[in-house]
Amino acid sequence: ILEFSQVALSFGDAEVLKKIDLALEAGKFYTLLGPSGSGKSTILKLISGQLQADSGKIYFEGKVINDVPAEKRRVNTVFQNYSLFPNMNVYDNVAFGPRLKKLPEGEIKEKVKEMLALVKLAGFEKREITELSGGQQQRVAIARALANDPEVLLLDEPLSALDYKLRKDMQQELRNIQKRLGITFVFVTHDQEEALAMSDWIFVMNDGLIQQNGTPEDIYDEPINHFVADFIGETN
Ligand code: ATP
Ligand code: MG
Repeated sequence: ILEFSQVALSFGDAEVLKKIDLALEAGKFYTLLGPSGSGKSTILKLISGQLQADSGKIYFEGKVINDVPAEKRRVNTVFQNYSLFPNMNVYDNVAFGPRLKKLPEGEIKEKVKEMLALVKLAGFEKREITELSGGQQQRVAIARALANDPEVLLLDEPLSALDYKLRKDMQQELRNIQKRLGITFVFVTHDQEEALAMSDWIFVMNDGLIQQNGTPEDIYDEPINHFVADFIGETN
């Protein structure tokens, strides 16, 4: 569904991505795993259209999308710090995307209901964002992103701000949501345990390069170099 061919990006003298190649199939759970500064968020921003590549091509369903504006891509992002509209209630947050598309209000209402049920917040429509816990806010953020019917959902460290127990529950839930909807997820984390537990396929990144990619088993059992071995072997 998505392909990078020799995609490079620098900020000034800093080569943030160095000729990256990757290929993602529809309907799978992918993870970008790597330390801070390795280029994970930059890859997500190139997929969403928030950043433009200096060179190389990005394909979506076989078509080059380098010049397709962000709002025309069927891609949505969930960030670590929720980025909900704090002055709107849950309903208005989730309805935001469908309203932009000018869907009839009846359809929007159905959509919001369905999405809130999916993230286990059925009946939360009238609640104010400021009354919700961090975990509940993150569920609303996921519902809001999914209400846009993305083909690819990008998740940039969405669980990092949550406590351990909630984080474990949400890992399982995200995986279930991805399977249920059958869309492609690209999940970013610097937590190797989380990556191993959740993914169909992992890209291990360091220093603007993909060091290794494969199934969790491949990467755990046969790290390709010292960096990957050390990174996967670390305990938090
Ligand atoms: P983290 O785990 O800390 O979120 P990351 O892997 O997501 O890290 P990126 O945000 O992709 O890393 O950043 C990769 C590198 O690019 C970093 O060295 C960062 O400082 C640099 N960088 C990112 N955005 C910009 C920018 N707008 N201008 C200059 N440098 C940037
Ligand atoms: Mg990042």
